[in-house]
Amino acid sequence: MSIFSNVELAPRDPILGLNEQYNADTRPTKVNLGVGVYYDAEGRLPVLKAVQIAEQELAKKVSPRGYLPIEGIATYDKGAQALLLGKDSELSKAGRALTFQALGGTGALKIGADFLKQINPNANVHISNPSWENHRALFERAGFTVNNYPYYDASTHGLDFAAMLAYLDTLPAGDIVILHACCHNPTGVDPSFEQWEQIANTIKAKGLIPFLDIAYQGFGDGLEEDAKVVKLFARLDIPTFVSSSFSKSFSLYGERVGALTILCASKEEADRVLSQVKRTIRTNYSNPPTHGGTVVSMVLNNEELFAQWESELAEMRDRIRSMRSALVQKLKENGVTQNFDFVLAQRGMFSYSGLTQAQVERLRNEHGIYAVNSGRICVAALNPKNIDAVAKAIASVL
Ligand code: PLP
Repeated sequence: MSIFSNVELAPRDPILGLNEQYNADTRPTKVNLGVGVYYDAEGRLPVLKAVQIAEQELAKKVSPRGYLPIEGIATYDKGAQALLLGKDSELSKAGRALTFQALGGTGALKIGADFLKQINPNANVHISNPSWENHRALFERAGFTVNNYPYYDASTHGLDFAAMLAYLDTLPAGDIVILHACCHNPTGVDPSFEQWEQIANTIKAKGLIPFLDIAYQGFGDGLEEDAKVVKLFARLDIPTFVSSSFSKSFSLYGERVGALTILCASKEEADRVLSQVKRTIRTNYSNPPTHGGTVVSMVLNNEELFAQWESELAEMRDRIRSMRSALVQKLKENGVTQNFDFVLAQRGMFSYSGLTQAQVERLRNEHGIYAVNSGRICVAALNPKNIDAVAKAIASVL
């Protein structure tokens, strides 16, 4: 009898499982649309020029690697906060906004979740239906019960806004609502700004706690535009949690670059929150790593590098948009009469394509084209070389 005798085999992560299947596929024409990663027009994971320049600068100096402060590199935190609230934010100046360097967006969510469980143990957590698959598991692991609020309407390929708002209106004060601040994963469907205003007003009126997840800032309409929702919650003086990720926007997935930002009512409150979140971090991983954070901080705090990064981000955003148009156009050319224009309105890297599980399976088995069973495809994995084959294959399974 071993202590592991009763350990059950956990189910495979659906997306990583798909990757394994893709890697084992020997067809040279295979395409992986299942991933949540941005690839360039050549199908490669890009290394951004801004990152290369910063790393070359770093390589010129010998840099000792002492422990970082628990909350991370101060200039990184300041830069990450400015991306969300703007450089001249009143909240930042008043010391009411806290930012902690975190191990990616996931790390930011986890620290936020653990801290929320400490201060608000009886709350329930609500995530969109559907949501990024790790949201549920992460908040459940932190000890919360997680429910779904209505979000996606398959019949319109859009948002079921009335149902979403009506659901939020039923929640008790203190409950936690996870919201995708832009570029909703997996659907690509975002509320309009007017709808966001209604969501924020409901959250404020009901005393709910919003946790804004922003993993794709810059992939929607631009860095500033995509942060409008965060600024809206700040303007309404709502105590808000924000998890940012730079994994995609810097193409630094493996460096684990993210941040947790918490908006407080006063400087005095922020000081107390700071002291407690530091304990949460200290007991998780003590303090964050140096390299990725240093690179991102150099880019965020240097005008030239920032401009370089912003233009590279714009290039990524434009390329995804052009692939959305190309896909819709090529489906028409392949004789598809079904209207796919909704793909053009979706934001960010993903599209809920409307493909059924059976169609997704046929794509995989007959054409070596891998999408998630839900019909989610990563538009950022399309490129001029594979788009014809993908459009033709989709047309053939519809
Ligand atoms: N939140 C959402 C909505 C995401 O899509 C992702 C990544 O796919 C994350 C958080 C996690 O980001 P990171 O890889 O930086 O941990």
